[in-house]
Amino acid sequence: MSRVFVITGPSGVGKGTLIALLRERVPQLELSVSATTRAPRPGERDGVDYHFLGEEEFDARVAARDFVEHASYAGRRYGTLRSELARRTAAGRPVVLEIEVQGARQVRTSLPDAVQVFIAPPSTGALRERLLGRGTDGEQEVRRRLAVAEQELQAQPEFAHVIVNDRLQDAAEQLVALVRGALANAAGQSAALD
Ligand code: ADP
Ligand code: 5GP
Repeated sequence: MSRVFVITGPSGVGKGTLIALLRERVPQLELSVSATTRAPRPGERDGVDYHFLGEEEFDARVAARDFVEHASYAGRRYGTLRSELARRTAAGRPVVLEIEVQGARQVRTSLPDAVQVFIAPPSTGALRERLLGRGTDGEQEVRRRLAVAEQELQAQPEFAHVIVNDRLQDAAEQLVALVRGALANAAGQSAALD
């Protein structure tokens, strides 16, 4: 039943922005806090924005099979902890994962009922402008992320749901409609099973 939502797409496309708007409109949605080995950006808090782990700790948790999915991205590790997902779903609330494409592929296997949404940029030029405009990454890091983005954009046909984030409000409307529709459908299915 569609109670897990995976939002994927290249860095800088607007995933975080769209998820924030989605959660204003669908407040019961929980956001899974990922683990990463990258350094916190100014203002980011451990346990809130990410669980910030050292490389060794990340490796140990991979070995302990603590991750639902994990991937290397632009030289850093990122992953969804099973404990995090279990804690978020325990109260019966739907959960959103904001992850890159390799992780989304793993979730497709491990959680086949999850609804996967690929957020696409209107153009690669717009993606570059957004990454630079966000101001969180230096020029070299932006170049690195754009190189990864080229490959990620090729994965778009794998996804049943693609939303182009051109006008932010339009993209947010589409995402809200998709999530509400999937939640209504899941509620209908569980009522039919009662
Ligand atoms: P992601 O989470 O995919 O890396 P962000 O949500 O951080 O991307 O967005 C990257 C930047 O692009 C932010 O500065 C954000 O304000 C901006 N942005 C997001 N959506 C749009 C849009 N539709 N049009 C213009 N700028 C946008
Ligand atoms: P950032 O460094 O900009 O926070 O994230 C870089 C990329 O890693 C983004 O595309 C983001 O969606 C992705 N990411 C964040 N958390 C996870 C995760 O738990 N698993 C995977 N596979 N990717 C993640």
